[in-house]
Amino acid sequence: MKKLLTNWFGCGMALLALCCFTAPNASASKLRIVTSTTDLAEFAQQVGGDRVEVESIARGYQDPHFVEAKPSFLLKIRRADLLIVVGLQLEIGWLPPLITQCGNPNVQVGAKGYLDASQFAEILEIPTTTVTRAMGDVHPFGNPHYWLDPENGRRIAQGIKNKLAEMRPEDAAYFDQRFQDFSKRLTEAEKSWDAQMEPYRGRKVITYHRSWPNFLKRFGLISAGEIEPRPGIPPSPRHTVELIQLMRRENIKVILVEPYFDLKTPNSIARETGGQVVVMLPSVGGEKEVTDYFQLFNYDINLVVRAFQAAH
Ligand SMILES: [Zn+2]
Repeated sequence: MKKLLTNWFGCGMALLALCCFTAPNASASKLRIVTSTTDLAEFAQQVGGDRVEVESIARGYQDPHFVEAKPSFLLKIRRADLLIVVGLQLEIGWLPPLITQCGNPNVQVGAKGYLDASQFAEILEIPTTTVTRAMGDVHPFGNPHYWLDPENGRRIAQGIKNKLAEMRPEDAAYFDQRFQDFSKRLTEAEKSWDAQMEPYRGRKVITYHRSWPNFLKRFGLISAGEIEPRPGIPPSPRHTVELIQLMRRENIKVILVEPYFDLKTPNSIARETGGQVVVMLPSVGGEKEVTDYFQLFNYDINLVVRAFQAAH
């Protein structure tokens, strides 16, 4: 018995030694990527495969404008080889101090480990006049919710792929193959999404926040107004009354709401207008079952189609 134990112990030690020897090397060879949002983490994971280790700071069910900065985020960014951000000031309320305080020179704005994904995407609503505070929380460089068009998703994934290839030239072919595969699967999925949305082209909707211009444009829908009187400004009774009148006048029945907003005003507008409130997810991870970019569109399109069907 003693011998057996010793043997087992010896063997265990050997295994342990092997693990200790190989594990850190294996993980050190992976690029450590930190993203501000889950959607960017998804693109990085799709193209990076097993050569990357990806973590998002914000959770998919959180409002990406307002993320509570925690000390653990600093540690993540400190260890990162690459930091990917949405940009266009989406994260201006919480990310800049984390970057400046993390003590990692590689991920500072403009450094080689800092990637602003907005440069790859089609950006809508770029203001043509000077932005003032009276306009609310308007983003002066355009609408930062750009990942909600699959074509932008493809472009962002491609931009990340190029960045990864630049940082790890020896894995460039691997990243490229994974990007091609992602793009192909996306093309297939887009056919189905387009077919589902086709009957509703030209329909008008109301949204809570201006999170959806890229999504609406992609699928031929029109936003007739927002529940927020101005971006980032909570609902006001006067604006809500105007919105109800507009919906009645134009027979608008569908109200899209992000999961982190209070449903009180949307529900009361729906009651007044016979409308449907649809809690749409702007990000991967907004619900447990929505674990990737494909499921995000499956989920949202399914909901919006059902709402249009119910509204006639
Ligand atoms: Zn916004």
